[in-house]
Amino acid sequence: MAGQKTAPAGIIFDIQHFSLHDGPGIRSTVFFKGCPLACRWCGNPESQRQEAQLMYFTQLCAACGNCVKACPNHAMSLAAGGVRFNPSPCTACGACVPGCLRGARKVSGKRLDVREISDEVRQHWRIFQQSGGGVTVSGGEPLAQRDFLLALLMELHDEAGLSTCLDTCAKAPWPVLERMLPHLDLVLLDIKHIDDEKHREWTGSGNADILFNARKLAGSRCAVLVRVPLIPGFNDADAELYDIADFLAETGLKRVEIMPCHALGLGKYRALGKVYSLPVTAKPRVPEAVDILKGAGIEVEVHSMI
Ligand code: SF4
Ligand code: SF4
Repeated sequence: MAGQKTAPAGIIFDIQHFSLHDGPGIRSTVFFKGCPLACRWCGNPESQRQEAQLMYFTQLCAACGNCVKACPNHAMSLAAGGVRFNPSPCTACGACVPGCLRGARKVSGKRLDVREISDEVRQHWRIFQQSGGGVTVSGGEPLAQRDFLLALLMELHDEAGLSTCLDTCAKAPWPVLERMLPHLDLVLLDIKHIDDEKHREWTGSGNADILFNARKLAGSRCAVLVRVPLIPGFNDADAELYDIADFLAETGLKRVEIMPCHALGLGKYRALGKVYSLPVTAKPRVPEAVDILKGAGIEVEVHSMI
C-alpha cells in the first residue's frame, strides 16, 4: 500500500524460547547471523557468515538422491556412500530440504522483520513477567546488523515494555554500541583475552576496540555482566587469568560468568564443511580461574557450557 512503511528486517539463524542462561529469568533469545570475529572455539559456526547457508549432516544421509534431483543449481551429485556437494553454485535456496526424509539438510539463516520477531516473542510475555525474564539478542554479533538491532530493541524495550539484554563481543565502534544502551536493561559482555596479538591469533581480530568499549560500558549507566569463555590453551594460564582479573578490577566490572568451553559444535562444523581446529579432549582450568578472579575481588559464577 502506498505510504506504508516496511518493518526493518535482518538475518536471524534461530529464536530459542525458555532460555535460562542468557540473562535473568526465563528468556527468549534471538540469534543474529554474522560476526566480525571467527573464534576457533565457536560453538555456533553457522553464526559467523551474514547470509543463509546450507548445512549437510552427512551422518544422517541415506544416499537416496532426492536432494540431487531437487537442486536447481546442480550443486550436488551422488557419490559412493552419499552426496558430493559443490558449495560454489549453491544459493542456499532450500529446494533440497523438504525432500530429505532423514533431516540431513537444513538452511541456516532467514530474513525476519522486527514485527515478525516481536509477534513471536510477545507470546511469552506472561512467562517473562512471572520469571523476571525478557528477550536477549545474541549471535553471531547483533551489532553487526546495527540498524536492524536498534529498530528491534526500540520495538521490544520501548514499545512492548519487555526487558532486553544484548549478548555481545563488543567488536564495533563505540558510538554504535552507545546508541543501543537506552534500549537495553543488561549487556552481557564477552572478554576473551587482554593481549591483542593472542586475541588476533585465536579470533581473527585484535581487541583494542573491545577493551575500549568495556571501559566505556563500565562508565555507563547500563548494567553489565562480563562473560569469559574459558578456552584451554588460549586464556586459562595463570598469567592470562591474572591479566583478565586486573583489567576487570581496574575498570570496575566486577560481575563475571566463566563459560568453560567444550567442543559442542563439532557436528555443525562438519555440516558446513569447516574444520574444528582445537583438541576436543582438552579441559579448561576452571577452579584456577575462579580462584584468581575471586582473589581480585570479582564476583564469579561458573556457567553452562558453550
Ligand atoms: S540449498 Fe538450493 S542450491 Fe543449495 S544445494 Fe540445496 S537446492 Fe541446491
Ligand atoms: S535427500 Fe537427504 S538422505 Fe537423500 S541423498 Fe540427499 S541428504 Fe542424503
